Amino acid sequence: MILKQIEVKSSLIDENTNCYIFQDENTREAICIDPGGDLEKIEEMLNIMNAKLKYIYLTHSHLDHIEKARELKEKAGGEILISRKGAENINNSDINLANLINTSINIEIDSRVDDKDILHVGDIELKVIYTPGHTDDSTCLYCENENLVFTGDTLMYMGCGRCDFPTGNKKDLRKSLKKLFLLPENTFVYPGHGLPTTIKDEKERKI
Ligand SMILES: [Zn+2]
Repeated sequence: MILKQIEVKSSLIDENTNCYIFQDENTREAICIDPGGDLEKIEEMLNIMNAKLKYIYLTHSHLDHIEKARELKEKAGGEILISRKGAENINNSDINLANLINTSINIEIDSRVDDKDILHVGDIELKVIYTPGHTDDSTCLYCENENLVFTGDTLMYMGCGRCDFPTGNKKDLRKSLKKLFLLPENTFVYPGHGLPTTIKDEKERKI
């Protein structure tokens, strides 16, 4: 497997978002997680990897994670996936935060994912973990074989996502973090912003 992290810039925030491309080397199939900006950078990486883009996965409906999903699909193909709630929320400008910068977005979802769904990307298996709290539509993607989890804005290096945006809920976030802390301690955590970390390190910090 090949994992590439691309720092992309959304028009929503000053901070970069981590977009990930995760590829099965044998079949060249790939999944792109959170194409929140800088479409050219993502396309360039897909070309370098000679990737067949199978899925465009959105960890939640915030603009800085979804902004280039439609354009990426137009350029590189792939099915756009988000949680069931995410499919309801995605074009709602209050929830996706597009209203904060007076814009709007229109993304058509190809498939909705539910908790415990398994996605196959070549030989890679990814399990959906429903983790509401930062938004009610947040999910993480866990790859047991490769010992890693993509956590969006739910769990980050030295912290977690805020819950004061529409659909956010502190209690739910705590429950979701507890759920993630049940993963093996040596699991690598790849968050939507900032540095990678591990389940062990974040658990010890007792968020
Ligand atoms: Zn967010």
